[in-house]
Amino acid sequence: MKLYTVSGFNEVGKNMTAVDLGDDAVIFDCGLHLPAVVELQEQEEKQTEYSEKKLRGIGAVPDDLLLDKMGVRGKVRALLLGHAHLDHIGAVPYLAYRYKAPIVGTPFTIAVLKKILEDEKIHIPNKINEVKPNSSFLVRGKKRNYQVEFINITHSTLQTAMMALHTPKGVILYANDFKLDNSPVLGLPPNYDALKRIAKQGVKALVVDALYSGNDRKTSSEKIARAMVEEVLLTVENRKSAVFVSTFSSHIARLKSIVDYGKKLNRQIYFLGRSLRKYVSASIEVGMCPFKNNIYMGSYKRQVDSILKKVSKNRESSLVVCTGHQGEPGSIMDRLSRGKLPFEFKANDNIVFSSKTIPAPVNVANKENMDKRFRKTGVRIFDGVHVSGHAGREDLRDLISLLNPENIIPSHGSTQQLSPMIELAREMGFRSGKECHLMQDGQKLKL
Ligand SMILES: [Zn+2]
Repeated sequence: MKLYTVSGFNEVGKNMTAVDLGDDAVIFDCGLHLPAVVELQEQEEKQTEYSEKKLRGIGAVPDDLLLDKMGVRGKVRALLLGHAHLDHIGAVPYLAYRYKAPIVGTPFTIAVLKKILEDEKIHIPNKINEVKPNSSFLVRGKKRNYQVEFINITHSTLQTAMMALHTPKGVILYANDFKLDNSPVLGLPPNYDALKRIAKQGVKALVVDALYSGNDRKTSSEKIARAMVEEVLLTVENRKSAVFVSTFSSHIARLKSIVDYGKKLNRQIYFLGRSLRKYVSASIEVGMCPFKNNIYMGSYKRQVDSILKKVSKNRESSLVVCTGHQGEPGSIMDRLSRGKLPFEFKANDNIVFSSKTIPAPVNVANKENMDKRFRKTGVRIFDGVHVSGHAGREDLRDLISLLNPENIIPSHGSTQQLSPMIELAREMGFRSGKECHLMQDGQKLKL
């Protein structure tokens, strides 16, 4: 058995791992790497068109030509998707056609993928299969079949799964991305029973989200973020102010908290921006949007303009949730800060960022410049009302103790970000190069 760390091992983004089982192969994830365009389709007016060639040229999609070279492409039997984030599914529209294989993911992941395909007007020939969290999909191989379990885990979007591929030599567990949150605000808690069971069966290899393996922490539950949202909305003097909040559009649990406390303030809640519409409507489709009757959504220019005019007249009784927490050019926040939309901030209006600026130079610069423009109007900015969706070092220690895998492969970051995971594994008795493996993009590991 061979494992190809196709991409996502030199950078945060464009995740893809392939497993070669001899007659058959499977691919885990097929993501985008676009640090400059965190939310791909935020340009509300001018929609950028992307082609496979263009995206390959700028290194935005996994370099899966490696699989052609290694004779793997032709025997790929499934494209398995762990969750709905773009760095895990965003390259599917451009690369999936290369594989005669079905695409498999949980209902929310698939609903988001279908929205992206619709928005981009891209047709892919692959069959698309939904698998409920905590159930299995049977991958049909040449001579035998393989069971893949979609084990429910917690993260910053709905229906995230750790995927357990059962092979004759043991389980390959793809755990990319996750945190261990026993009180998620929305969705199921981690399925520890399933993890214990596969540990008993024997985990051959664990590909694991090691992004924050260098942070000595247990990542807090989403209930802590909910309490932070409560504080910033209910304990701040904002009775006479406009309140605008921006968060990750795919973070439906966070959006729920914002809506819940917005309602407590007796404010009418508006959602503005295309990516919000995309993720929220996907959550409605799968029956996981508890606030669907409490919001008005606007995404097209005319809707956005008319809602903002209404909000201007009813500042004290409105709460706007919008895109642009990274200062993305063309997002609602960005355009508000440039005076390009029909709403003017006044002194003491509240702008809440329920997010963390992604530490890529372009994001940091965009956000800083946007904040500067906002500050000129005298608004109050509340930044970092957020809890991460990624496990810290002590969560990783618990996961490894629970699973006792034969091999550990850190994933989801640069060498610098992944190295502390190797350190941790060594601390726990794994030998570097023998049982824990610091891999790079485009490499192969024999198991
Ligand atoms: Zn993610």
